[in-house]
Amino acid sequence: MADVYIALGSNMDSPHQQLDSALEALAQHPNIQLIAVSNRYQTPPIGPQQPDFINAAAQLSTDLSPLDLLDALQAIEQQQNRVRSIHWGPRTLDLDILFYNDLVGGSPVGDSLVIESERLTIPHPRIGERAFVLVPLMDLNPQLALPSGETVAQLLANCSQQGIVKTTNGED
Ligand code: ATP
Ligand code: MG
Ligand code: MG
Repeated sequence: MADVYIALGSNMDSPHQQLDSALEALAQHPNIQLIAVSNRYQTPPIGPQQPDFINAAAQLSTDLSPLDLLDALQAIEQQQNRVRSIHWGPRTLDLDILFYNDLVGGSPVGDSLVIESERLTIPHPRIGERAFVLVPLMDLNPQLALPSGETVAQLLANCSQQGIVKTTNGED
């Protein structure tokens, strides 16, 4: 089993509902258990001009390999009409793997796996510069660390959080 942290983001077609649907699909996947979900944050876009994003992070437990998990996340993106057009452009749903820690007997064995392959880089290469990823991760586990040893809490202390606002899920 593995203890995994993922990032969720949407800025098209009812972003809160996109996140609701994605979390439901994750919870219903036979090989994935949803352990915890962060608060949701409205965040300014990075890249081309486009609407603000709703971002969150989730902690999963899974027996899927990293690549099989990527396939599962991309299938959920596809189900929700993700179209890959403009690089870093608007999207209905983005699901990225941030950290993937193998568990043995229920306990993490060291820090996140490090993977650098054509389809997959873990830890996600842009965690350290993205407050929209670090702020939700702080809700779940501030002690997660990059291979450099820098923790989420330390990385966030060096990142601008300008424009990031905690939101409700749109229903209350
Ligand atoms: P960014 O990676 O900067 O957040 P993005 O999420 O918009 O950009 P996508 O279009 O969603 O990028 O994905 C492009 C490719 O990134 C995917 O097809 C996938 O193979 C690859 N990829 C590499 N590492 C990861 C990872 N840790 N999580 C998700 N996708 C990854
Ligand atoms: Mg992304
Ligand atoms: Mg992505």
